[in-house]
Amino acid sequence: MREARKGMLLVISGPSGAGKGTLYNRVLAADPTITFSVSYTTRGPRPGEVDGKDYCFVTEEQFRQMLDRDGFLEHADVHGHLYGTPRQPVLDALEAGRSVMLDIDPQGALQVMEKMPDCVSVFILPPSFAELRRRLTGRGTEKPEEIERRLRNARGEVQLMGKYQYLVVNDDLEVAYRTLQGIVDAEKQRSSRYFPVVEEE
Ligand code: ADP
Ligand code: 5GP
Repeated sequence: MREARKGMLLVISGPSGAGKGTLYNRVLAADPTITFSVSYTTRGPRPGEVDGKDYCFVTEEQFRQMLDRDGFLEHADVHGHLYGTPRQPVLDALEAGRSVMLDIDPQGALQVMEKMPDCVSVFILPPSFAELRRRLTGRGTEKPEEIERRLRNARGEVQLMGKYQYLVVNDDLEVAYRTLQGIVDAEKQRSSRYFPVVEEE
């Protein structure tokens, strides 16, 4: 059996602290054919974040220059900072048959759903706002006022979950991971992206 696949564009959103990164990093670790799209952002790096790997950290001026060159597939102001997905690396990877994972907010996700309608969209929900607060506090990467801002924004973000094809509640991590992996595995098998050639006898 020989096979070829078209790359798929995976769009993951969910409130800050819902566990998006925890979940999709396991999917990425299990499947080297999926590339993570490194976004541009004007927010500063957190301790341990690596420029060019977690984000491309840029000034607002650099971000605007990229925007003027029409260099973003989507972009948005999220929690008071600019974030954007560079267009060309995504298109190049898809063209080469690789799948691409985007971790973007709902404003950006809606732009991508319109421009790339065959994308696969997944919204990750926390089991409760109380648990979201515990996770954000426990992660320890934001100051208390920044945590409050993210929790406030979370209420608006979850109202857009109905725009996504799939919802995954991240309560038990193993269950949520298996569910997300199941979505990715099933979507790869769509006949529109998968071309198995059954060889002659
Ligand atoms: P996001 O990428 O959505 O902002 P993270 O993946 O950074 O969220 O997760 C936020 C925090 O919650 C991290 O400290 C992570 O270890 C923790 N976490 C993620 N999933 C779960 C889960 N199912 N149960 C408990 N804690 C979790
Ligand atoms: P964080 O600052 O916690 O890394 O990310 C904050 C929010 O920005 C998350 O909801 C994340 O999904 C979103 N985000 C990260 N990169 C992008 C991007 O390129 N575009 C958009 N629209 N949102 C992004």
